Amino acid sequence: MRTLIKWAGDNPDREGLVGTPERVVRAYKEFFAGYDKDPVALLTKTFEETAVYDEMIVLRDIRLESHCEHHIVPILGKVHIGYFPAGRVVGISKLARLVEVFAKRMQIQETLTSQIADTIQDVLKPHGVGVVIEAAHQCMTTRGIRTPGVSMVTSRMLGSFRDDLETRREFVAAVRSLGSGASGC
Ligand SMILES: [Zn+2]
Repeated sequence: MRTLIKWAGDNPDREGLVGTPERVVRAYKEFFAGYDKDPVALLTKTFEETAVYDEMIVLRDIRLESHCEHHIVPILGKVHIGYFPAGRVVGISKLARLVEVFAKRMQIQETLTSQIADTIQDVLKPHGVGVVIEAAHQCMTTRGIRTPGVSMVTSRMLGSFRDDLETRREFVAAVRSLGSGASGC
């Protein structure tokens, strides 16, 4: 950090900057706390067997804060998750924590989307799962070609969300209809 501060043209020993390298390290510990956590264990320990509920579950607008692996600047957005349980469900907070485990790593949005969907599929073994992420990348909005207001949308559909048009429609409609978040307009 001292080298980068010097390289940017400032003096790492001046009062305002002297504690900065240590603060950055502490910030990185928070930004990248997801490496210490096991996403599979998170869901494995907490799912409940239930034969009763067999409709789609959709969780919308989970706050996403991640960092792009190319520039280590923020990716900010929202995650929407839907799944069609086959006997196993988890609490809402666990899905939000699952997002956080993967988000608090160096990421690209496509990988993040797949990791969330694949983990749910592997552990809960639902009939299907869908994950949609819409996010703004500060490496696009504040540097380079500078395109403020642009967001990127990625999705991964597995099982019935991929194969069954009706299920896919129901999920997309649930994500779009309920609020301002998903439509991007
Ligand atoms: Zn980037």
